[in-house]
Amino acid sequence: MPLPSSRVSRRQFLAGSMAAGAAVMCGGLSGAAAPVGRGIPAAKRRELAADESKALITITLDLEMSRHYPKRGMMEWDFQKGNLDDATKAYSVAAAEKAAAKGGFIHFFCVGRVLEHKSVDWLNTLIQGGHPIGNHTYDHVYVLASTPEEAQFRFRRSPWLAQGKTTAELIEENIRITTVAMQDRLKIDPDGFRTPGGFQTALDGRADIQQMLLDQGFSWVSCKYPAHEAGEEHQEPTAAVYESIVAAQAAAQPYVYPSGLVEVPMSPISDVNAFRTKFWKLEYFKKAIRQGVEWAIENRACYDFLAHPSCLVVEDPQAETIQMICDIVNDAGDKAVIVDCDTIAERARLRHKPSAENK
Ligand SMILES: [Zn+2]
Repeated sequence: MPLPSSRVSRRQFLAGSMAAGAAVMCGGLSGAAAPVGRGIPAAKRRELAADESKALITITLDLEMSRHYPKRGMMEWDFQKGNLDDATKAYSVAAAEKAAAKGGFIHFFCVGRVLEHKSVDWLNTLIQGGHPIGNHTYDHVYVLASTPEEAQFRFRRSPWLAQGKTTAELIEENIRITTVAMQDRLKIDPDGFRTPGGFQTALDGRADIQQMLLDQGFSWVSCKYPAHEAGEEHQEPTAAVYESIVAAQAAAQPYVYPSGLVEVPMSPISDVNAFRTKFWKLEYFKKAIRQGVEWAIENRACYDFLAHPSCLVVEDPQAETIQMICDIVNDAGDKAVIVDCDTIAERARLRHKPSAENK
């Protein structure tokens, strides 16, 4: 089959969006860092968002440590979510390079505490490669928490860190200082916000949290994770489980909250859900992800792959799943494109028709 010309043009514009970063890398980084475009160029973003003939596929990785990795029983990460180990950092960079080699890129979300580390070279490599990096809070706090102890294990063990703050203030600060740390250490503004944990109800009915995020300059949030079946531990998923995961994709489509904040849901199944909770084999995970991406392409819908390098470095060491997603999108020609979360948010905005009473 001849190579569709659209495929070439998609590759070309993705390559173009990465070119500035590549040039900086090749030219050396001895001087001040040049501004680097990340993700989809702004002008192209609106065009893709408006083109309803295309499914929008995003590949996202949350930069944090995950309990039970790299070994079962490892629980200390609950208190040190941002203390990424070298294997996780190396995997993040390698996965980004593998995605880029197939014309794609990855939208990362960074837990702020990792910015205390001596070197952030690995994050600069991602930035210079054109990969967006969003805010994932400083300590991986639960934004719907009603007490500091509920917000994060760290504040349960070390309650003095939360002393004198309301829970709302603690959460607000945990997000704000991550933005400040990214600006200070990485010289970038965060590319959006993802809540630690995903919840079925997202921020529905939580005008206070929506407004807090808008006040901090975020126009979209990735928060919703729809309910689905995942089967029994150690068991190959049944057809019903796969069907449930595909069915959940319809509930993972972007929308606009009454506040104007946009929700960019995560698409099941997450890696930690599949591997950590259900002890899946890689082939089961890849099958579920393939079916979800294919559903999105058939329906010209959105798909937001969600995983964690701290988990995948053990469960999918060659980043097969991410490369598979890139291959599916490339094979789909005109029908799909790899985008950043911002492009998915833009599609929701373009589709949104405010009701008469909201005008
Ligand atoms: Zn997380």
